[in-house]
Amino acid sequence: MKKFDYICIGGGSGGIASANRAAKHGKKVALIEGGEIGGTCVNVGCVPKKAMWFGATVAEAIHKYSPEYGFDVTVNHFSWEILVANRQAYIERVHASYDRILATNDITWVKGFARFVDNHTVEVNGDTYTAEHITIATGGRPRLPDVPGAEYGIDSDGFFALRTQPKRALVVGAGYIAVELAGLLHSLGTDTHLAVRQHAPLRHFDPIIVETLVELIDSEGPTLHKHTEVEKVEKQDDGELHVHFSTGELLKTDCLIWAIGRTPSTHNIGLENTDITLQEKDYIKVDSYQNTSVDGVYALGDVTGHVELTPVAIKAGRLLSERLFNGQDKAHLDYSLIPTVVFSHPPIGTIGLTESEAKSQYGDDNIKVYATSFSAMYTAVTRHRQVTRMKLVCVGKEEKVVGLHGIGHGMDEILQGFAVAVKMGATKADFDACVAIHPTSAEEFVTMT
Ligand code: FAD
Ligand code: NDP
Repeated sequence: MKKFDYICIGGGSGGIASANRAAKHGKKVALIEGGEIGGTCVNVGCVPKKAMWFGATVAEAIHKYSPEYGFDVTVNHFSWEILVANRQAYIERVHASYDRILATNDITWVKGFARFVDNHTVEVNGDTYTAEHITIATGGRPRLPDVPGAEYGIDSDGFFALRTQPKRALVVGAGYIAVELAGLLHSLGTDTHLAVRQHAPLRHFDPIIVETLVELIDSEGPTLHKHTEVEKVEKQDDGELHVHFSTGELLKTDCLIWAIGRTPSTHNIGLENTDITLQEKDYIKVDSYQNTSVDGVYALGDVTGHVELTPVAIKAGRLLSERLFNGQDKAHLDYSLIPTVVFSHPPIGTIGLTESEAKSQYGDDNIKVYATSFSAMYTAVTRHRQVTRMKLVCVGKEEKVVGLHGIGHGMDEILQGFAVAVKMGATKADFDACVAIHPTSAEEFVTMT
């Protein structure tokens, strides 16, 4: 039996962050990871996605905007292969930097998949490991639907494994991943369709976002199919996929991508040998300090089903180590007011309550909403004017800003600073007191009337 002070199961965003912080406080740490270091975010999530999104942004700049900026550009060829090769080379550099940091912090990387054999012992490749403190940060994996022929489709992991560009693609789903993958495929030149079960993708976002996103998709693409579900998929001899929708429509495509949600990696880790409790949809149940139902065993990140974002897993992991190994008894993540960006085209940024959430929480009469709509100047100089919309949701006489939403050019980079203000409890008057930066899109947030 190998003994450590701290074991993190899962070398993704949360596990690495927590392990490194524990090691900085002098603890003897083992990190157990059976796949690529960096987990979902680095290998099949945020990082490769953002590289593809940047590629798509370059394509838009060339095709849509460059002529009116005076460039006479002839594009001979777009090489998906080159973009993917450079993306993967970047990821290799990220792996190397993780390796260096783990080595510097003297963390033992146990390469393999862990299974609990009892509450405080895990087994990896036939060896057993124990520690006073064990964190489960095993993340999640894509979910596939139960329809005939579902296996002919790929998921987001499969998307990142594509080494050639599909000529035609259908993305099924209505969340972050569906919107992002459909958007970047379309911008890179794939004939792309997006199919949603309801009236719109991202339907739980504020209506200003949902309506603007649908308006932009309708005018710029990809092709949106609403109120429809896939009933069956057939593969032809030449590889073409025939997708049958509940509306009776038949869509022929080369590549079907399921993006209908994710499921936590709580199977195959031996939880049946422990007293750890699961909650709905097989997420690990934790309290606000990341404690599971077993003393000395914690869980964080996607496996807990709270806000499934990399910085959330990282912060939860670091704060847990501060609490366990640096005497900060009360350290824990505040899961309220977490900013988030969807890398759509254009991007979406949001923090806090939607207008309807604020009204149901505080009462209609206590809510004041400010909104603006304009063409982002970057696009307004060209024939391809693109709308930007922003909204502030304010509460009470003091008009505290409890929700901030925007869709438009640059929104991905605008949000972070405003999120600080919202987290600090800024009011509309505080926003107005800040002098605008001109000419920017961001200035609209401090000049709304
Ligand atoms: P993960 O990063 O999933 O890490 C879990 C690790 O545990 C994996 O490496 C896995 O191999 C390992 N593991 C599993 N079981 C075992 C076992 N038994 N033993 C040992 N190891 C095990 N978030 C953002 O903030 N911004 C984005 O732009 C963004 N884009 C995304 C795009 C996509 C396509 C996807 C799928 C996700 C995206 N996310 C994004 C979400 C983000 O990737 C996750 O929230 C984050 O990775 C969660 O971190 P984690 O540590 O909980 O789990
Ligand atoms: P989400 O849970 O965000 O969205 C999946 C959606 O797909 C559901 O909400 C549902 O929407 C729809 N859906 C479910 N089942 C079906 C079905 N059978 N057929 C058609 N549609 C279906 O999952 P994602 O996988 O997109 O993303 C998982 C999480 O990863 C996100 O919530 C986010 O936290 C994180 N992420 C973050 C990113 C970022 O920060 N930029 C990027 C990517 C992921 P409806 O009910 O409306 O049909």
